[in-house]
Parts: sequence; structure tokens; C-alpha cells
Amino acid sequence: MACWDIVGKVCGQPVSNLLGGRFRDRVESFYYVARSDPAEVAAEGALAMKSGFTTCYLKVGAGEPSADIERVESLRDGAGPDARLRIDANEAWSPGEAVRIIRDLQRFDLELIEQPVSGRVLDEMAYVRSRIDVPLLANEASWTRHDQLAVIRAGAADVLSVDNQMDGGLLNLKRSAGICEAAGLTVVKHSLGELGVALAAAVQVIASTPNFRYANQAYGALLSEDVTVGFGGGVDSYVDGCVRVPEEPGLGVRLDPEHVERYAELNRTDGAAFAFHDPNALSASHALPKR
Ligand SMILES: [Mg+2]
Repeated sequence: MACWDIVGKVCGQPVSNLLGGRFRDRVESFYYVARSDPAEVAAEGALAMKSGFTTCYLKVGAGEPSADIERVESLRDGAGPDARLRIDANEAWSPGEAVRIIRDLQRFDLELIEQPVSGRVLDEMAYVRSRIDVPLLANEASWTRHDQLAVIRAGAADVLSVDNQMDGGLLNLKRSAGICEAAGLTVVKHSLGELGVALAAAVQVIASTPNFRYANQAYGALLSEDVTVGFGGGVDSYVDGCVRVPEEPGLGVRLDPEHVERYAELNRTDGAAFAFHDPNALSASHALPKR
């Protein structure tokens, strides 16, 4: 990311121009409904739509299917009929469970179902995909370009997640999208919870790449602020669920030194408590061991 930023600044061009030119001026993000209680899910869905977002994202699969169905129904009630509802089971279900649960959930008009079954067994993804009427989004099955090619060959997904932080940076994000484009498939940028610098970097790629057709993952709307000035963090950084593609040279964002120092200090003191560092939290699926 830093090298792309330097080259862009030396050339006086935003990175999107170095990667083929700008296809879009805004990049859309989903709204992560990070709630479990059905009433709170409904309220958060309503807030997302009121804030201009079009796509609500909800995790399912951590509890009983009946509880998930109640939560998705609450989200539809709260977000209203125009919202796009995307649900992510993080590999929680067996193939049979997945087919039964997704068929039941179809009445709520889902946009995408993300990784309903293990990402390691592509035959099972293809089986589920052939028996449901909701487009299937691969995530745990598609971390790298090699994984993405295997998903395409197996006919295991309708849409693929791509992630520059999991597979070698911005040029590989572009390559990932290109592999999927050649198969006639669209992609969604996955997020590991980046701040404004990494978000801007990915946005430069997305701006120059046509087949990012769905709202992408970003967690900025859940942040109160960011390390960048006027970009990324906080719901006010989004207009109609979109961030603007920076036009300034390089990645096009400026750091706020005070915020950088404050969050660097927090990372030093509290960083070990972050959930992604806890192996028990990472393998919390009720149905399948993750490793
Ligand atoms: Mg996911």
C-alpha cells in the first residue's frame, strides 16, 4: 500500500488511475448490523436505512436456526421492504441444514447468503447452491486467487469475496477480480476491519474495476472516528452508503497525527484483547471445528 501511495504521489495521480482509470466515483459499503437481540436488530436495520445505506449485513449460525429466522425477520421488519439483506453463516451449517434454513429464509428476500457451509468442501457448496434461490457468496472458500479459481471450477458460488489483506495486496485484489470477471462473476471486497488508510487503498482498486457490483464490506459506520482526516470512520463519512473515491495523488488520504498516536497507544495497551487474537473466539461456530 505504501509503495502505491508513493508512486501515485510522485506521478501526481490517484492510484485508481495507475490501475486502469476510474470506473466509478463512489464505492458502496454494507452496514454491519452487529446485534443479536431481535428488537435491537430491527432498530439497527432501521438506523442503517435512515443513514442512507441500502445493504444490511447480519451474522447467523451461532445459535438455533429458529432464533436466526426470528432475527432475519426482525431485520426485514426494521429495515423495510427496499433494504438488501445479506446474511453470513461463517460455515456454520451442514449441507442439509443449510438448504432447509435458507429455503425457509427465502421469504425475507435475501440479497446473498454468505458461506453457509464449510469453505473446504466445494462439492457441498455447489450442492447447496443448486438447491436454493438465493445467490451464494463464497468467503472462507475464496481467500486467495488459487481458492477463487477452485470455487469457479466447482461452480460453488455466484459471487466471490476477495481480500487484499489475505492475498498479497492491491495488485492481487485486481487480479482476483479479473479471474472472477473472466468467469462472468461479480466480487465483494471482504474486510478484516481496516481503518481509513487500508480502506482508501482498496477503494482505489474497486474504483478501477467494474465487477465489484455489490456493496462491499467496511466497518467504518461502526467507528466513531478514524486515523484519516474526513475519510473512512464514522457514519458521516458515507453518503447513500458510499465513500467517495479520493481524487488526490496516491491513496488520497491524510493521517490525523493525534488520532494515530491515540490509537497506537490503545493498541499497545489493549491490543491483545482484540477478538481476532483469541483462538476460542475464532473457532466459535457451533457446528464445525474451524481447524
Ligand atoms: Mg464472511
